Amino acid sequence: MKFSRGYGSVGLVLLILSLIFFTSGCQAAKDQPSPSSSVAGPIKIYTTFYPLYDFTKKIAGDRAIVENLQPVGVEPHGYEPSPQQVASIYTGKLFIFLGEPMDPWAKKIEGQLKAKGVMTLEAGKGLIENNDPHIWLDPVLAGEISRRIFEAVVTVDGDNKGYYEKNLHELEQKFAVLDQQYRETLAGVARKDFVTSHAAFGYLAKRYGLKQIPISGLSPQEEPSVQQMAELITLCRSKGVKYIFFETLASPKLSETLARETGAGTLILNPLGGLTPEEIKAGEDYFSIMAKNLASLKKALE
Ligand SMILES: [Zn+2]
Repeated sequence: MKFSRGYGSVGLVLLILSLIFFTSGCQAAKDQPSPSSSVAGPIKIYTTFYPLYDFTKKIAGDRAIVENLQPVGVEPHGYEPSPQQVASIYTGKLFIFLGEPMDPWAKKIEGQLKAKGVMTLEAGKGLIENNDPHIWLDPVLAGEISRRIFEAVVTVDGDNKGYYEKNLHELEQKFAVLDQQYRETLAGVARKDFVTSHAAFGYLAKRYGLKQIPISGLSPQEEPSVQQMAELITLCRSKGVKYIFFETLASPKLSETLARETGAGTLILNPLGGLTPEEIKAGEDYFSIMAKNLASLKKALE
């Protein structure tokens, strides 16, 4: 009984297999000559954190699968992927990271990835100065990062070059408009000093002639001492700072303390290291948040 049933399922499997071979045979015959690209499917690209993901997605469109390793709502400084996530990078064609000090773990696996045939791009190479990784917050440098991403994507998927080129041009246009808006809006403001939660806006400040006063250091984890906090309170009072900025993925506590002590208000200035689930749900991206940041800066500096 048992045997005959087993024999029956073997027969069924053989029947199914022959049907598969038969139909796939027909498929191949119908599609002749079958191009190799359609068999391979879309390429897979991995990025380490949000801005790289957003720029890559805008260039790759629907011709590639772009996966961001940083989970939604997680602050990117000090974030490291799980061993399973690292293993998944090896299944991709291209791995895009920014470079130290943002994603130091990426540099460590770069050699192994290359050896296994995965192309890598250190997008911030030569752009990062004084150990400050926040180059994406300067629209001009963000444009340069995007051109580098485009070159890398074309290297692994030359068949779709024209499509990626069109997307890059649209993206460059948006960066140019954003740069123009920042230039025009910030040229007319009365104040130049703005107080940020952590020191993420140095490149942006330099580009548009502003001065950043950060509460924490180059990452939100580098909190000020009691003495430094006291100096910040004195500085904000003497400059008559109207608003203290806080961020969405780090604790607002220090910004709120400083605002309370100086009689200033608080506003969000988003360093775009990652989006919250609410921001993703609302369809926000680099450009919509940079527009909000500009409105906040204008309000704080006029
Ligand atoms: Zn940061």
